[in-house]
Amino acid sequence: MKVIISAIDFIYNWGRANSLWPFTFATSCCGIEMIATSAATFDIARFGSEVFRASPRQADLLITAGTITHKMAPLLVRLYEQMPEPKYVIAMGACTVTGGMFADASYNVVRGVDKLIPVDIYLGGCPPRPEALLDAIIKLQKKIKTETIADRKKYLEAHKPRVKIVDNVDLALCPDEFEVYEWGLKE
Ligand code: SF4
Repeated sequence: MKVIISAIDFIYNWGRANSLWPFTFATSCCGIEMIATSAATFDIARFGSEVFRASPRQADLLITAGTITHKMAPLLVRLYEQMPEPKYVIAMGACTVTGGMFADASYNVVRGVDKLIPVDIYLGGCPPRPEALLDAIIKLQKKIKTETIADRKKYLEAHKPRVKIVDNVDLALCPDEFEVYEWGLKE
């Protein structure tokens, strides 16, 4: 039985790892580097990831390329939820990993996108070069190849958004004047 599951895992993981379709989610300067990665110079098609989709329903890789603000946070979570399973996240750039240069004094930037959604690969830099993004995709492929469908339940649990969206998003953003800063940082 174990041999059969291992063989299925191998084929399943090989298929997923080599056909990661990224969702177009570029919010600021890091987005330019993500776009450059899809140019002929870098040839992202080698990894089966050249098909950048404009719809979350047709993508399984979310690359958060750029600063994530509190205002944007509920929309990001909603888009993530609309992506079909299995889905993966690469946090690209210092701003999305920790808040970057905005981490000290800004009132509106989320201090790390992993406060909102689970992140599979963290990619530092300001901005990371296209080669670094390709390296992150290779690392993600390696990670996918270690997964097994026997642990699927564990995987689904680990890939849930970290925050819930309330029906009235306006309330989540503006519960009162000063709560805006806190949004997205609470469990
Ligand atoms: S990490 Fe640097 S390049 Fe990327 S969004 Fe932030 S400021 Fe721009």
